[in-house]
Amino acid sequence: MKLIMKFGGTSVGNGKKIRHVAELVKKYKDKGNDIVVVTSALEGVTDDILHAAYEAMDEGNVTKIDDFISNITAQHKKALYDAVENDPVDDIIAKLEVIITTFRNDLKGICSLGELTLRSIDKLSSYGERLAAPILSASFRSVGMESEPFTGGEIGILTDDNYGSARPLESTYRAVKDHMSQLPESTVPVISGFIGEDEHGAITTLGRGGSDFTASIIGASIKADEIWLWKEVHGIMTTDPKLVPEARPLSIISYIEVMEMSFFGAKVLHPKAIEPAIRHDIPVRVKNTFDPDYPGTLVVKEQETVENVVKAVSVIDNVALINISGAGMVGTIGVAARVFSVLAHEKVNIIMISQGSSEANLSIVVGESYKKKAVEALEKEFTNGVVGEIESDAHIAVIAVVGVGMAGIPGVAGNVFKALGNNNINVIMISQGSSQHNISFVVKKDAAAKAVQVLHKDFSLDRLQ
Ligand code: ADP
Ligand code: ASP
Ligand code: MG
Repeated sequence: MKLIMKFGGTSVGNGKKIRHVAELVKKYKDKGNDIVVVTSALEGVTDDILHAAYEAMDEGNVTKIDDFISNITAQHKKALYDAVENDPVDDIIAKLEVIITTFRNDLKGICSLGELTLRSIDKLSSYGERLAAPILSASFRSVGMESEPFTGGEIGILTDDNYGSARPLESTYRAVKDHMSQLPESTVPVISGFIGEDEHGAITTLGRGGSDFTASIIGASIKADEIWLWKEVHGIMTTDPKLVPEARPLSIISYIEVMEMSFFGAKVLHPKAIEPAIRHDIPVRVKNTFDPDYPGTLVVKEQETVENVVKAVSVIDNVALINISGAGMVGTIGVAARVFSVLAHEKVNIIMISQGSSEANLSIVVGESYKKKAVEALEKEFTNGVVGEIESDAHIAVIAVVGVGMAGIPGVAGNVFKALGNNNINVIMISQGSSQHNISFVVKKDAAAKAVQVLHKDFSLDRLQ
């Protein structure tokens, strides 16, 4: 089989884990599979880099940069030594040092400029994956596979310049296919996930958790048989196990359900990761690196039999509610259109929309980081009295109840809101897509965990087989 295997940050957390990954991949390679590997940065490295970058901008302290770089260097060198056991590593060390030198220079540049653009953030946060790929690839060679590391750009991932959340251009799929076809079949390429390049050659990132997206882009490009995402969990679960310890892994789930779950905050998958797989109906598997024999979750186009009406509950809490209201909105044509076009112009992504039938009120939910920009743009747009008030509240969370089996089954929404009511959880806003795959609603942030726990229990998700 032609397989894409992506390993997340925890899976490649240190040299010993990398060695384990190398042995795991070798097992599948020896069975005759063609494998392309995508790697995340070592666990925690992207967060550490972002922290150092903001600190460099705020404080301009060059000594702190030197300390940070020497820690990152030591961490990656140790990982390399452990990952290759006793093999010689001089050439890989030299390669890592070249990358680290430009990394240090870039951070020092931020120190002296005192500013950090979106483009700089993307370049800096790319170093985690750029350092990880040569180490993983060396470990593969050390266990007896042929292997070579590549960055996203080197393998043909060309994106728009929407830094921080870049999308692949259509030409990517062809370019990746061409690049991959030039590699010998025996080689297992190790590609840095999360990153691409724009048309000017600047490094872009696909958004946090973007290595899943990279795997799917490559899978679609080469029409892989399956895309396997190796993580630290047993698959896609009924809810975040950190929130509800009774959460159960789902054996099978459809593309649409996973997209709804990840869009509404289930951090197990990047929200756009399924899109490329859908192009060619490529099945996606989510598996546990540390329990590889467990089957994990299979994500497919359509599930044949659906036993559970509700499959999963997810929550997103880094969001803000914006309320646009005013008597002047009643009967005034085009208010909603103006709201959406202003926000689109500002590149604000809208997560939820609801309009009361009185037309005097329009509520939208946006990512918390967009709140200020969105409110300012709306205030500027509506200076003519049509809109009376624009209020915002970031102390909220959106909860989504997901399951394709809900379509056409009466009473699901009733049960959701009854369970919440019985537990004194106040619902601020409700929305249900016409596809009926998802019921989403807004609660106060401090009620979110309880709401998820109540629904998980009420729909017996803890007893799912
Ligand atoms: P990766 O190793 O690919 O980065 P992640 O660590 O991002 O994988 O994904 C797994 C994490 O996602 C888990 O730690 C888990 O707490 C969280 N998570 C949130 N919602 C879910 C869910 N519904 N199913 C599984 N994991 C979830
Ligand atoms: N390293 C990146 C992040 O932490 C991408 C990823 O892990 O998928 O967001
Ligand atoms: Mg992740």
